[in-house]
Amino acid sequence: MAPLSEADLARYREKLEARRRELLEEIRTELHRTEEESYVELAGRVHDEGEEAVADLLADMNLDFVARQIEELREVEDALGRIERGEYGVCVDCGGEIERERLDAQPTALRCIDCQAAWERTHATGPGHPTSL
Ligand SMILES: [Zn+2]
Repeated sequence: MAPLSEADLARYREKLEARRRELLEEIRTELHRTEEESYVELAGRVHDEGEEAVADLLADMNLDFVARQIEELREVEDALGRIERGEYGVCVDCGGEIERERLDAQPTALRCIDCQAAWERTHATGPGHPTSL
């Protein structure tokens, strides 16, 4: 197995760190926007309903977008951790090398193409996926 060179790793680290900054900025922006919207809504509700309504409203708020960003941020930080530990570019399932083109397209990739395909076959569920009819 030909390990990634220092130059390769430096390049992936740079990409990941750039993505990390982007995600943090997006999360910050989105939370700020959500906060402003909820303040407007809260202003009209708190008087009547008391404090419990605030928690309910926060729970009801659509944070799906931020949840996805946070999930990706976690993946990016994991990848940066793997670079630090010298484990980057190694498939977590088979221990083989992850294809270079795959890392270029998705620097957070955990698995080689074969293992990823197998993993997706066994984890082929998602929100809205019909599990029973
Ligand atoms: Zn693999």
